[in-house]
Amino acid sequence: KLPLDIETIRLDFPILKRKVNGYPLVYLDNAATSQTPQQVIDVIVDYYSNYNANIHRGVHSLSQEATDKYESARKKIQQHFNVANSHEIIFTSGTTHSINLVANGFAQELEKGDEVIVSALEHHSNIVPWQMLCEKTGAILKVIPMTQEGELDMEAFHKLLSAKTKMVFVNHVSNALGTVNPIEEIIEATHKVGAAILVDGAQAAPHIKADLQALDVDFYVVSAHKICGPTGVGMLYGKEKWLNKLPPYQGGGEMIATVSFEKTTYAELPHKFEAGTPNICGGIAFGAAIDYMNAIGFKNIAAYEHQLLEYATKELLEIEGVKIYGTSKEKTAVISFNIEGLHPYDIGTIVDKLGIALRTGHHCAQPIMDFYKIPGTVRASFSFYNTFEEVDLFIGAIKKAKMMLQ
Ligand code: PMP
Repeated sequence: KLPLDIETIRLDFPILKRKVNGYPLVYLDNAATSQTPQQVIDVIVDYYSNYNANIHRGVHSLSQEATDKYESARKKIQQHFNVANSHEIIFTSGTTHSINLVANGFAQELEKGDEVIVSALEHHSNIVPWQMLCEKTGAILKVIPMTQEGELDMEAFHKLLSAKTKMVFVNHVSNALGTVNPIEEIIEATHKVGAAILVDGAQAAPHIKADLQALDVDFYVVSAHKICGPTGVGMLYGKEKWLNKLPPYQGGGEMIATVSFEKTTYAELPHKFEAGTPNICGGIAFGAAIDYMNAIGFKNIAAYEHQLLEYATKELLEIEGVKIYGTSKEKTAVISFNIEGLHPYDIGTIVDKLGIALRTGHHCAQPIMDFYKIPGTVRASFSFYNTFEEVDLFIGAIKKAKMMLQ
């Protein structure tokens, strides 16, 4: 029995009705970006049709309406992640922006010879900003190694921690492999040595409702477009004490208390980190996307996606020459794979001709590809609106591509 009424849910997504290259779209690139339900599209149309105005500045009604909706979206996000204060939620343009904001601020916390720890399973956006920070400060970047199964080597992680460690940054879920990392254990051990931790929740957010107070994490970052929201908006959660301590990332309007040529003082949280006119409509739609996902329910989503993952994995492994990367028992509905002797790009191109959207390449995680000594993989990533019939179409298309390429 399925935990979700998929046929009804699919009616919410206009894009799922379209054809690609003459075939019904089978969208299996959800880890790159999710599709948008009508409920969220309606909110976007309503904003531009009825109350488009700049926020926090105007006395006029439209401005107040937009401000109220934007701030109420912040509260929705706060509640969703069980955060103590709404000013601990900073609107950003997405995960990448959120990480850069923290990495930039952390320069003042680091001295030459201090250590920061990254994991081998990261997306480039959770590697490069920290490398830039290390270059600036002379801090040393240490890496938690990974195992053949695509899990973090936790024994090695515990050995890397010391009094020199100032910061740890890991993802909750790997975008390239789908591995769910043991962040509870990582957070606890990081705090034991007195360091701070940032968890990249970009890939966890569509599948797992994280309770940030229970996790006791210092920073948690998310992009709205992975959870049925629009692109160009996301959040940074930071503990109040950290957000007060870190300097602003950008200067400009909105983020000040007073400005004179002698001295500027900064606004209170969250505005200190929100310089300039933000993605107002995007923020409001982010809130609507969270409402939409919660109405379906994260337990139902996880249970259903797990069934899809098990079925697709079993069917795929029946094809000769298939090798799946990332075989952890703890994983979201992502399958990264190759077929012996075939290039992932060729497979992706042929199945696209059959309407199947997959991702091929290094998935912005080149260190993982280097570890497996491969140029890239084919990645199928599933969402709650995918069906078992779509898995069959995907498997059929892969078989066809294999026949054509061999
Ligand atoms: N981290 C992870 C784990 C991701 O999957 C992504 C998006 N692919 C990002 C960070 C970057 O997110 P964005 O491009 O929305 O800033």
